[in-house]
Amino acid sequence: MGIRLGCIADDFTGATDLANNLVRAGMRVVQLIDVPQDGAGRTVDADAVVIALKSRTTPAPEAVEASLRALDWLRSTGAEQIYFKYCSTFDSTRAGNIGPVTEALMDALGTDFTVATPAFPDNGRTVFKGHLFVGDVLLSESGMRHHPLTPMTDSNLVSVLGAQSTRPVGLIDHTVVAAGAGAIRARVDELRKEGVGTAIVDAVSNDDLVRLGAAVRELPLVTAGSGLAIGLPANWGFEPSPAAARLPSPGGHRAIVSGSVSTATNGQVLEFLRGGRPAFGVDPLRIAAGEDVAGRALAFAASHLADGPVLVYSTEAPDAVKNVQGRLGVAEAGELVEQTLARVAQGLVDLGVRQLVVAGGETSGAVVQALGITGLRIGPQIDPGVPWCAADLPDGQTLHITLKSGNFGGPDFFTASFAHLDRDAHLDRDARLDRDARLDRDAHLDGETA
Ligand code: ADP
Repeated sequence: MGIRLGCIADDFTGATDLANNLVRAGMRVVQLIDVPQDGAGRTVDADAVVIALKSRTTPAPEAVEASLRALDWLRSTGAEQIYFKYCSTFDSTRAGNIGPVTEALMDALGTDFTVATPAFPDNGRTVFKGHLFVGDVLLSESGMRHHPLTPMTDSNLVSVLGAQSTRPVGLIDHTVVAAGAGAIRARVDELRKEGVGTAIVDAVSNDDLVRLGAAVRELPLVTAGSGLAIGLPANWGFEPSPAAARLPSPGGHRAIVSGSVSTATNGQVLEFLRGGRPAFGVDPLRIAAGEDVAGRALAFAASHLADGPVLVYSTEAPDAVKNVQGRLGVAEAGELVEQTLARVAQGLVDLGVRQLVVAGGETSGAVVQALGITGLRIGPQIDPGVPWCAADLPDGQTLHITLKSGNFGGPDFFTASFAHLDRDAHLDRDARLDRDARLDRDAHLDGETA
């Protein structure tokens, strides 16, 4: 069975979010970091592939070019439907990039119609009468109105997308969606006749997304946040199953690398330290002074890895971070710490770490790049939106890795994530034992009747 769904996500964590939802709906998913070079990996064994781009805030022509490259690659795998994934707060400007990318994909796919909905009710994103709500307030009244790159001051998605599109934008409203897939399809036919290119679709519940998913089965292109992933896999007969999230058995040492300075991560580091577990604090000022901080962190890790997970962290409370940033510069401090932690991650893998938790969005990007990881198989979810993944290292070994951005996860996330992997390995072993027992019994019964 080949690739069913080919997805193009406009940023990395958004890609993981979508991949995670698809896995939970029963598809086996591989997430690729950027478009593979020279056709590498075209034979990827999965039901869906998500290509993570960084096209949310680049100039529109660049976003279009990258998205079309991703489309070409996905089509070469035989993907039957394309899913363009953007943020559930519809992050964009008048120049794009949601409208221009959508229309470029439509042209390349030779289709005159698609749908658009950022709705993700489980995360408090709902669309009603074309207006996007974030929790209980309109998008334009949410924190998104102050976003530095993509301030969202209009909640009416028909007008937001209309301003970015050359074709008319329409609406499939909640009364139609509530009436089911047949009614949605009939409305699509009407809108198509009126010359509408993209229709914003209302959705206030998961049921709405399931109905929409069934209705858009024949569309070559769908565009959405990660919510629509709830409704699509059933079109190919997939249903939720732990098998979709199965990863190879984990092995090796365990470590955590944390470069996130967010509140949640500060709590997680404190909790880990309170448990008296081995931890090495990375001081940016020492890095700036030319000390071999990564080397010392690795020497510390080498002597503690046998005792369980080792934490290497630069995580500090906001005041300490401000102080460092004041002395070194914000970007310079960030870059120094990211490069050091990336080297630490590389060294940890050389020391035999095969289960790695990384905290911090930017930190994750630096670590993944340093380790030469180009793709992740998405496994079971540890916390909402944060799955364990398995990555092939350049030398062919498997690394279990989870990439936790900023404010995700409860206080015990670090230890809980390893416990999760243990539990999963047990479940997996139990399932294998069950199956072996069944096969034994069947063989025995066969023997009796023979
Ligand atoms: P988050 O997901 O929490 O935003 P990121 O990794 O995306 O985490 O961003 C944190 C940024 O702060 C990174 O650039 C990181 O290198 C930088 N950083 C980490 N620790 C410190 C520190 N102690 N002082 C200054 N900057 C730091």
